[in-house]
Amino acid sequence: MNETKVIVITIDGPAASGKGSLAKKLAEMLDYDFLDTGALYRRVALKVIENNVNADEIDKIITISKDLSQNLHEKYDDSALRNDKVGEMASKVAQISDVRTNLDDFQRNFAKNVTKGAVLDGRDIGTVICPDADIKLFVTASVEKRAMRRHKELQSRGIEAKYSSVLAEMQERDERDSTRLNEHLKPSHDCHVIDTSDMTPNQVMDAALEIIGPFLH
Ligand code: C5P
Repeated sequence: MNETKVIVITIDGPAASGKGSLAKKLAEMLDYDFLDTGALYRRVALKVIENNVNADEIDKIITISKDLSQNLHEKYDDSALRNDKVGEMASKVAQISDVRTNLDDFQRNFAKNVTKGAVLDGRDIGTVICPDADIKLFVTASVEKRAMRRHKELQSRGIEAKYSSVLAEMQERDERDSTRLNEHLKPSHDCHVIDTSDMTPNQVMDAALEIIGPFLH
């Protein structure tokens, strides 16, 4: 009997690189399951903020992540997670190694329990969560281009912000995301890098499909 192979695609990369929208579009197109792992860290961050816990209250944050890890299957309000305050706190809680461990099982089980295929996007998916994934993409862009995109997005939502502050925040986030104890947030040795600095979203999609295409047959 001809069994269809389950395909796992991981998409890692820095903030505002375009990895999130690529991941969502690919999952839709291929009819695969999709997991935005950044949202898990954002959910911890939101609870931390709601409970007036400070970023340096490590034990409390670990407890919050432990409690949340039991309920990650539940539905949540994604729009509440999409602001810079939550994003910034997410990048702080993500530096705590026990928080990462508490979120690991859910992500690993998600990738194991798919029937057709899965797309997972994040920072350490190709290295830590799914090191045996079939296809690993690393989507990146220059920090200036990523800051420009974020600035434009804020403007389109009617939020006043100076480009220079958006750029400074992006640099700070990159710094935090790349110097934490977990050494796995770099491109894995076996990933395909897509630099989206000078690409439109359609070109990014085409570049990804060119890489993925041969694996689908
Ligand atoms: O991708 P997103 O901006 O939603 O992620 C929020 C933060 O969560 C990131 O800045 C990063 O610090 C952290 N993160 C992580 N590992 C992942 C996904 C996100 O450390 N797999």
